[in-house]
Amino acid sequence: MSVNDLELKTFKAIIECIEEGSEKPSRAAIAKELGLSRTTASNYVNKLISSDILEELDSESQGRGRPGKPLTLSSSKRYAIGAFFDESDWYLSVVNLQGNPIENLHYPIERMTIDSFIQVLIGGIQEIQKKYGSQLLPAIGIGSPGVIDRKTGTIIKAVDLGWRDIPLGRIVLQQTGFSCYILNRYRATGLGEAHHGQGQGVKDFIFIGIGTGMGSAIFIDGKLMFTTNIHTGGIGHIIVDPHGPYCSCGRKGCALPLASTDALIANVLKSLKENPSLAYTPLAQRYSTEKTVTLQEIMQAAEDGDAFARQSVHTVADPMCQIIGHLITIINPKKIVLGGPMATTGTYYVNYIKEKVTNDYLTPEIPIVQGSMDVYTGARGAASLVTKRVVELTFHTPDTWYQEQ
Ligand SMILES: [Zn+2]
Repeated sequence: MSVNDLELKTFKAIIECIEEGSEKPSRAAIAKELGLSRTTASNYVNKLISSDILEELDSESQGRGRPGKPLTLSSSKRYAIGAFFDESDWYLSVVNLQGNPIENLHYPIERMTIDSFIQVLIGGIQEIQKKYGSQLLPAIGIGSPGVIDRKTGTIIKAVDLGWRDIPLGRIVLQQTGFSCYILNRYRATGLGEAHHGQGQGVKDFIFIGIGTGMGSAIFIDGKLMFTTNIHTGGIGHIIVDPHGPYCSCGRKGCALPLASTDALIANVLKSLKENPSLAYTPLAQRYSTEKTVTLQEIMQAAEDGDAFARQSVHTVADPMCQIIGHLITIINPKKIVLGGPMATTGTYYVNYIKEKVTNDYLTPEIPIVQGSMDVYTGARGAASLVTKRVVELTFHTPDTWYQEQ
C-alpha cells in the first residue's frame, strides 16, 4: 500500500501518541490528542491494524458509556532484527514492535578476519529471514565497532581492530536485501540502555562503553545526540596524557591505549613478567599455569581485595575519570551509565570511578552506575533503529540502503 506524506506523518503521530503516552490510548484519545475527527482517526488506526503495526486490546470497562479499546504496537505480527558485535561474537536479537525480544541468537566468529566478521553476520541474518519471512521489517540495525559513516554504512576506521573503509552496509544489503542502519556498537548499547536498561525514564544521560574500543552515547531530552554524519561520542581519542603512549590513530596519549581492556591486560602481564615480588598474587599464580590472564580474572581479583589487581584497575580507570569529569562539567547529565566488557565485568572498576569522580572533579553528585549485564542490550538498541521506522518500512519500499538516522 502506498501512502502520501500527510498519511505517513499521521501514522507516525499516532504511533508516537501510543509510545509516549503514560497509558495505552483508545481511538477517541488519539483523535483528541491529534485534533482529528473520530472517524478520520479511526480510519488511520484501521489501516495500521490491517498492516499488523497496531493491535487492539480487550476494552477495560471504565465507568459509563462504551469503553474505548486500548491500542498498542503489535506484539506478535511484525518483527525487527538488531545485531551487535562484541570482541569476537555477533549477538542478534529479533524483537517485536514493542522492542521486546522474541529470540536471541549468538554467532561466535571462529577466526577473526574482516571477511568472517561480515559473513557470520550475514549468515545470522539469513537464518532469521528464513524463519520469520515477510513478518520481518526489511531492515537491520547494526552496532558495529569503529567510526561509522551512517549515511553510507561504511566502517571508516576501527583502530582497535586495524580496519579501514569497510562498506558493511552495502555488502549486507547486496547479500540479504535488507537496508542497514549502522552505528557504533557502544552507541547501540546506549540506545538499549535508554529503552530497556539503566537509561529508562532518564532523559539526559550518558552511556560510556569500554572494551577493546571505546565509545559514548549522549542522550539529551531523550534523544541520542548526533552532530555530524560520522563522529559523535568518540571518547577513545580524547588526549588524557600528552606524554602518554602512541595511539593507533597516530597521536600521543589518547585514552584508548591507556584505558581499554587490552591496555589493562597488557599492563598486568608486563608487571607479572617484570616483577618477581608479585609471584604470590592470585594473578601471578594464574599466569604461571595458563601463561595469560583474562579480564574476568583481573576484575575478580580486584573485587576480592588483591592490591596488585586493584592498582592495575586504577591505572586504566583514572583516564576514564578524567573524561567523565569533563563530560559532567560540560553536559551535566542526570546519570552516567558505564558498560562494555570493562564495566560489566568490573563492579570494583565502576565503584572506583564513581568515588574518584565524585571526590576529585568538583562535579555535582551524579549517579554513576553499571550498565546492563545482558549481552543482547546492544542488539536490542540497534533493533530500535528499525522499529522506529516501522511506518516508512511498511508503506515505502526503501530504495537506498543507507538512511538518515
Ligand atoms: Zn587515538
